[in-house]
Parts: sequence; structure tokens; C-alpha cells
Amino acid sequence: MSGTVDHVVIAGGGTAGWLAACTIAARGPRDVARPLAVTLVEAPDIPTIGVGEGTWPTMRATLAAIGIAEEEFLTACDASFKQGSRFDGWRDGSAGDSYLHPFTSPVGDAPRDAVAAWTAAGGGFADAVTPQAEVCEQGLAPRQKAMPGYAGALNYGYHLDAGKLVDLLKRHALGLGVRHVAARIEGVDRAANGDIAALVLDSGEVLSGDLYIDCTGMRGLLIAGEMGAGRIDRSDVLFNDRALAAQVPTAPDSAIASVTVGTAHDAGWLWDIALPTRRGIGCVYASRFCSDDRALATLRDYVARALPGVPVPEPRLLRFESGHLDRFWIGNCLAIGLSAGFVEPLEASAIVMIELSLRALMDGFPETRAEMDIHARRFNQLFRTRWDRIVDFLKLHYVLSDRGGAYWQAHRETVPDNLADLLTLWRNHVPTSADFPMADEIFPAASWQYVLYGMGAPAPRLPTWQSAGGEVSRRARQLASALPTNRAYLDTLRNTAPVRQATGCPA
Ligand SMILES: Cc1cc2nc3c(=O)[nH]c(=O)nc-3n(C[C@H](O)[C@H](O)[C@H](O)COP(=O)(O)OP(=O)(O)OC[C@H]3O[C@@H](n4cnc5c(N)ncnc54)[C@H](O)[C@@H]3O)c2cc1C
Repeated sequence: MSGTVDHVVIAGGGTAGWLAACTIAARGPRDVARPLAVTLVEAPDIPTIGVGEGTWPTMRATLAAIGIAEEEFLTACDASFKQGSRFDGWRDGSAGDSYLHPFTSPVGDAPRDAVAAWTAAGGGFADAVTPQAEVCEQGLAPRQKAMPGYAGALNYGYHLDAGKLVDLLKRHALGLGVRHVAARIEGVDRAANGDIAALVLDSGEVLSGDLYIDCTGMRGLLIAGEMGAGRIDRSDVLFNDRALAAQVPTAPDSAIASVTVGTAHDAGWLWDIALPTRRGIGCVYASRFCSDDRALATLRDYVARALPGVPVPEPRLLRFESGHLDRFWIGNCLAIGLSAGFVEPLEASAIVMIELSLRALMDGFPETRAEMDIHARRFNQLFRTRWDRIVDFLKLHYVLSDRGGAYWQAHRETVPDNLADLLTLWRNHVPTSADFPMADEIFPAASWQYVLYGMGAPAPRLPTWQSAGGEVSRRARQLASALPTNRAYLDTLRNTAPVRQATGCPA
């Protein structure tokens, strides 16, 4: 088969499906004479997962590329700015045990500059190497309202309402000409070469395309159910497998934190994400070490301390297994989103993997079926490495902890080989991009530094090096006097900006 790829069929209408639809429809590398048709089919009776409220800074470029204005996104998704993650209680659980992993790289040109600045200044690593620590501490926005959309004084992503993001992406995709089919996929017709020939829908329609993108969530209906992709279990290293998720309303004048707060507990951690109207709070835990009842008590206890007097709405229980596929692209079927894999939500790596998958697809979009196998081989290799990196990076958050108890002890006893090697090297060297040489690394060397030194690893001995400490505090003072608070910024926006519909969308 060497037919041209003219029609992309996306199965599933969650964040992955609609982001894929918008990205392909907005950036289809075709001329008008041979347009690329996009159809998205989703089952109206199978809900989306409905969580996924923290993004990486990559989301700014993604939204800009698909043509959604930042103000429209912020208001339509009840979104706020995320400038990083703060980790409370991860080192030993004592009072004041807290460190920051901000999105802005440390000052200085060389990775050693940051470590030298920190060694000279003392205190927390992030405080010493980036003004973003002070900006987060004060609850300030990373940008001024007059700046062009998606520009920032500091690097930032978003916190958002996952359901509203899906609604916005859907409206936008329809405006870009995507065909939406509300029906359940009940069967798959296969071609003689093993490709997917068509999807058989419960409406009776037989939907055929040239490339099928499986965004059907954890079930992986096409890629695993039909194409036979295997699953690589990562729960031996990342053993959290459940989350209780609650949404707690907040007062209209409450401060809006700039960071996702991750608080360690005896058998996992809690997330706390502030939006203009509510806090998304969840308890992630390993069922091997913690019962559902104990997790619920942990969640309630956290809310009682964080928001005294506010009742906890009934949380949703979500089950997951840390793992991913052995192949993400088989024949004419590519898996993106939860269908490709999921490891626990620490550091919000899932939506950024959707974005990176779409970037890889669009960078080398297969023009014909004949070239698809080459793209598939390259994609599979790249994303196997990406999943390995995610697993190592998330595990770094656990293995240096001195917390007691069976759960934390088990983490210290299950360090993946590659991470163990890096930790050995980093006794005498600073993490640099040489340790992570892939283009488009999901977590840059700076992120590893923030977590490594935040978790208490000592600085290697460095030769005398230029300290940038003075620069950090000067810049922090400048920013503090120029930036509004998150609450002031978002309230002004919500009170003044009409929510613009995507061009050509139905109301
Ligand atoms: C506890 C938890 C917290 C998380 N937090 C974050 C976070 O902070 N940041 C982050 O980046 N990610 C996070 N994630 C991951 C994030 O939620 C997902 O990556 C994201 O929502 C994408 O989901 P999806 O679109 O792949 O799947 P889903 O939302 O599950 O969508 C699946 C779609 O497939 C359709 N479908 C299924 N079967 C059929 C069928 N037979 N026929 C037709 N359609 C079908 C459904 O109708 C649905 O539309 C979190 C996940 C969990 C579990």
C-alpha cells in the first residue's frame, strides 16, 4: 500500500483526542488542493477521565499554534498560572521541609553557575538561583496583562478545569473544520496487511480513514485491543495506583497559588491546585501500603488544615496502573494520551506527553502509507526513551527521602539502574544537558537540579565559580514591584474579557 494520507480518524474525545484534532486541523501540512480531513469519534456514554489540571509551559506554544488566544483560554477554562511545583514534607516530613521546582531555569550560563550561587548563598536551591521562587512565594502572576499573549517575565504553564478545556478544544476544533461523530466504536475492520481499514460504529456508520489515532483512554481500544501492542508495567518502581480527587470551592477573594503544592504522606502524596473559583485537591496513594479509608482520612485531614471549616465534597476514586505500551505506533494506528500509557500524576507529565507526541507526528507527518512504518519505528524509539526518563525523574522525588515507613523504604529499595548511575555521577558532578542529550527533553537538566538539590543532595565541590546570587535578588525585587498578584490579574481578566468563541464555531 502506498496510498496518500488524506483522512485522519481520531478515536476518543478527551484532552488527547481534541488536542490532536485541533493540532492536526490547524497545522495540517497540506495545500488547499489536497486538504487533510479530520474526523473525531467519541462515545457519548463513555465519560472522559475528567482530571488533569496541571500543564507544563509547553501548553503555551501548543495553544498558540492551534490559534486559541491566551485570554480566551484563561477565562474559558477557569485557568490560573502554574510556575512550578512545591514539594512539602518529602525530605523527612519535619516542619519547614519544603522545596520548589520552578519552571524558569537557574540564572547563569552554565549549570555550575547555579550550584555556585547556591553554595555561596546557602538556604534553598531554588531561592538562590531564580527570582521565580520569590514571585511564587508572593503569589504573583508571571506576566503583566499588557504583554503579548503567551509572553511572560518568567516561564509558566497553567492550572485549569479539565472539563472546560475539553469543551474549549472541541468548539475550536469544530471551527477548524473537524467532523465530530458521537457514537461508540463497536468493531474494527482490518485490511489484509493488518492495518485498520475502518471503525464500525453503533450508529451503523463504517468510518474509514488512512491514519487512526487512538485516544480512547486507558482501555487503548485500537492500539492494544486490535493492533496487539503489549504493556510495560512500571509499578515495580512507581507503585502509586489510586487517587481520590475532590474539588473544594474557595472564596472569591482567596489568594491563588502559583504552584502545584505536592505534600508527602505516609503512603503517597496529595496535590493541591488553585483555580480562581476552587481548589482541586487529591490524595495519590499505593493500595499496597494504604487502604481507601486511610487515604480518605488523609485527604480530609489535609483539607481541614488547608481550608478550615470547608466541607470536603465526596471525592472520586480513580484507579490506574503505572505503565506504558511497548509500541505506540503500529501500522496505521498511533496511540496518544492515556491509551499510550500513564504513570502517576506527579509532575504532570501526561498532557505534555500528548503535546510531544503531536509535535513528533506533525514534524514528520506521514504523507503516504509507504513511509508510515519508518515514522512508526522512529516514534516508538523516541517515546520508549521518553517514558524511561519520566520514570527516572519521578523516582528521583522519592529515593533521596529520609521519611520512615514501609512505603518510603520500598521506594529507596527500588532505584532503576540508570537513575542509580546518575546519582553516583552527581556526587562529583552537577547535572547538565550532557546527561540528557535528547532533543526536546521532557525534563531539562535544570529540573533534575531543582529536585536533586531540593531533596537535600549535597553540592559537589566546585572550583571557584562566579556567583550569580546578587543578580537573583535584584531581579526578584524588580519583578515583585512590577507584577500583579494572580488574584488581581485573573479577576481583572474575568471582569473585562468577553469569552471569544473560536472562529466559525457554533454558539
Ligand atoms: C489522578 C490523575 C491526575 C492527573 N493529573 C494530571 C495533571 O495534573 N496533568 C496532566 O498532564 N495529566 C494528568 N493526568 C492525566 C490526564 O488526565 C490525561 O492524560 C488526559 O486527561 C488525557 O486523557 P485521554 O484523552 O487520553 O483519555 P480520556 O479522558 O479517558 O478520554 C477517552 C475518550 O475515549 C472515548 N472512548 C472510549 N471508548 C470508546 C469507544 N468504544 N468508542 C468511542 N469512543 C470511546 C471516551 O468517550 C472519551 O472521549 C491525571 C490522571 C489521573 C488519573
